Amino acid sequence: MFTIKGKSGDWEVVIGLETHIEVLSNSKIFSGASANYNPTIAPNTQACMVDVAMPGMLPVLNEYCVDQAIKFGLGINAEISRISRFARKQYFYPDLPQGYQISQPADQPPVVGRGWVEIIGDDGNPKKILIERAHLEQDAGKLKHDVHPTKSFADYNRTGVTLLEIVTFLDVKNPENNSFISSPDEAERYLRKIREIARALGVSKANMEEGSMRADVNVSVRRAGTNTFNERCEIKNMVSFKFIKTAIEYEAKRQIEILESGGTIERNTMRYNQGDGTTSVLRSKEDALDYRYFPDPDLLPLVITDDRIERIRRTMPELPEATRSRYIEKYGLAEYDAARLTETTDISKWFDTAVGDKPERAKSIANWMISELFAHPENYDIENEKSGMVDGMRIITPADLAELVDMISANDINGKQAKDIFIKMLDGEIGTPREIADKFGMKQMTDASAIEKIIDDVLTANTSQVEQYKSGKVGLFGFFVGAVMRATGGKANPGVVNEILKKKLG
Ligand code: ADP
Ligand code: MG
Repeated sequence: MFTIKGKSGDWEVVIGLETHIEVLSNSKIFSGASANYNPTIAPNTQACMVDVAMPGMLPVLNEYCVDQAIKFGLGINAEISRISRFARKQYFYPDLPQGYQISQPADQPPVVGRGWVEIIGDDGNPKKILIERAHLEQDAGKLKHDVHPTKSFADYNRTGVTLLEIVTFLDVKNPENNSFISSPDEAERYLRKIREIARALGVSKANMEEGSMRADVNVSVRRAGTNTFNERCEIKNMVSFKFIKTAIEYEAKRQIEILESGGTIERNTMRYNQGDGTTSVLRSKEDALDYRYFPDPDLLPLVITDDRIERIRRTMPELPEATRSRYIEKYGLAEYDAARLTETTDISKWFDTAVGDKPERAKSIANWMISELFAHPENYDIENEKSGMVDGMRIITPADLAELVDMISANDINGKQAKDIFIKMLDGEIGTPREIADKFGMKQMTDASAIEKIIDDVLTANTSQVEQYKSGKVGLFGFFVGAVMRATGGKANPGVVNEILKKKLG
């Protein structure tokens, strides 16, 4: 259990995250303008009449974005609402030309209801983090204050881009239920899990640096061992894992100090100050906005049929967590290896292609990928489309690696020769591993009588070492193996060499 020491004892931290991810889609949630937002695009070139709220413009719901939300909902094991509604959250700000944000407020069923994800908890065991809901809403525009000394400008390219807001759940009625985030590290692991699922499903790039993932962080504290929930503060708009962790820690300590000196926590909205890692009040309770939510009269209730949910379920790819278990259970891979091979879906696809229908390949493919291939990222195309020479680099394909490990297990080449072939490929040798082996005459020597003859020669040439070995210096075994391998130009099958040597040396 993560605790923070106060003057009067230990405190626990209770954390609730509201995570916004930008949904991948061609057009915006309620307009046909391009949603391919990025900061290098000229201002206001991707904002249409609907986005800038010209009188008489009506929103039309982008059904693809709804599909994306459903897909994500299924990815977090959630209930999909058969009926949900859009409402207007009203506030005035120049980045919001409508004067309201269309969202799915908390008092109505959101498109995605109760769900959960599993993370590794601080005690090293799997921990469920409950999710209350995920809802669709519009993003706002961007104000630019640094273009002109006295004027500010508004860029509405991002206005109306689709956001999915994912809110974690606190079981207030059931305080024993500790399926919530309770440390800065768990907050990071939860966010990474959300990112992994969003990316694997193609729902969002979920990239904090690029702004396609942001989080509001709710923090409260309580004395260690108690299970009531105390008043919290919300730190707005966090865009880095590192800052989120420092902000939680600072905010928790700030609250502990107040409580220990007899004060009370006010439900304030906080800002995080990057410079010194502190939090400070952005809006106090008295300044809290009244959004005067009301159902958007321009939009029908969102009705989702069972058929639609099933259709989407059938197109869902395997999620990284399931891929990892498959690698561990079916192929016997170590947990670390399985994790490396599922860092992105492209990597696991590459691995799956190389293994093909031969599970016996899996372990060596995994070893080769992790210890050799990953060291040369310029020599493979993880999207698996190209082969041969690309930009002067020899691209190693899943088929190349599959052939290489098959040649080893068929005893056509030994590990040393495989490594040589691999290096030749890195150096730009075209042709499959087998063609390269043929071209350079790399063939493993497996003929036992031929190997035996060479061993005899080696032993006769090294009589003093043989005597030392026989009188107990068994560490010399490697010396003999090395000498035999050298005598065969590295071609001998090391297994056969070992076996005959053992017999001869007694
Ligand atoms: P709001 O409507 O103010 O945004 P919500 O009820 O939607 O509040 O909760 C927002 C987030 O705050 C949720 O993730 C929720 O779990 C979390 N939260 C609620 N109460 C607490 C608390 N006492 N301590 C920490 N987080 C909390
Ligand atoms: Mg909120």
